[in-house]
Amino acid sequence: MPEKVLVLAEVSEGELRNVSFETIAAGRKIAGDNEVVALLCGENVSGLSEDLIHHGADRVLVAENEHLKSYTTDAYKQALLQVVEKESPDALLLPHTSPGKDLAPRIAAKLNNGLVSDAVDLEVDGDEVIFTRPIYSGKAFEKKSVTDGVIFATFRPNNIPPLEADSSRSGDASTVDVEIKDLRTVIKDVVKKTSGGVDLSEANVIIAGGRGVKSAEGFEPLYELADVLGGAVGASRGACDAEYCDYSLQIGQTGKVVTPDLYIAVGISGAIQHLAGMSNSKCIVAINKDAESPIFDVADYSLTGDLFEIVPLLIEEFKKV
Ligand code: FAD
Repeated sequence: MPEKVLVLAEVSEGELRNVSFETIAAGRKIAGDNEVVALLCGENVSGLSEDLIHHGADRVLVAENEHLKSYTTDAYKQALLQVVEKESPDALLLPHTSPGKDLAPRIAAKLNNGLVSDAVDLEVDGDEVIFTRPIYSGKAFEKKSVTDGVIFATFRPNNIPPLEADSSRSGDASTVDVEIKDLRTVIKDVVKKTSGGVDLSEANVIIAGGRGVKSAEGFEPLYELADVLGGAVGASRGACDAEYCDYSLQIGQTGKVVTPDLYIAVGISGAIQHLAGMSNSKCIVAINKDAESPIFDVADYSLTGDLFEIVPLLIEEFKKV
């Protein structure tokens, strides 16, 4: 069993992302009674330490630096490598988010270590940690265990249940000095494309629209349904290509991979590249006027009919709940 597990917590706009707690829960499972250390990077982030401890970290290292305020490959790579060198963890865990996906392979290469990426589950059998990860665009799952070097893995958001916050847990939080230099990229300003709302990759409910929605205006009822259900709006590439919505909403092989509790596909045919991003959702509802549409093959509930009639009915009904 690893003596020390290091988890990189992810902060977005001054708040911890839920996937940080999920990754700590994975670390807790791997470490057992041994130590889980969380690394917090950013500027003025030390106040978040307590939350990490309440969710299962034993110790928090805070790397405060102006260059860590927003993610850049160079700065985060330098910070994480320095902390790994200081701490020598037996296991290193990162969220499988955009920053995590960018960072993990670079760290693995620098450490000359293997990497299990995009894990959705894990089990511990004695000293062996066995990860489950999707392959072939989510059509199958493989199990992998690490036999050599640091156990290094990234975790897909929304798959490992976070531990319930326990405010009686205590732990140490201390500053760790990191030297960030020779940056090739510096973030001057961050301009957000989408306004507020639930983060698509962490949403428990997603209403995704396709080309069948027919226009940007056609997406408005989808936003209303998402609001009623406390979810986020996503899209197929067909809808993005047709400029009904922004590419940041695209779900699929070349878009975001999501695993919500509820995925409502509206006017989406279910091309294999779209399924790659959503077929592991816990419950899939598909609305399509074509009864032969492939999306119905993966749907738990199939609503055959006109989306422009069905979506307003759903909004009306869910508003009553
Ligand atoms: P369509 O296939 O045109 O389907 C529209 C659906 O709406 C149809 O099933 C139709 O029956 C239904 N419909 C129409 N009107 C109504 C109505 N009034 N009521 C109810 N239903 C209605 N796609 C992605 O989504 N994500 C990706 O990441 C992605 N990556 C790709 C990568 C590569 C390399 C390639 C080649 C393709 C990729 N694609 C991706 C594109 C993918 O192949 C499909 O073209 C795309 O998913 C189709 O989008 P769609 O289902 O919205 O449109």
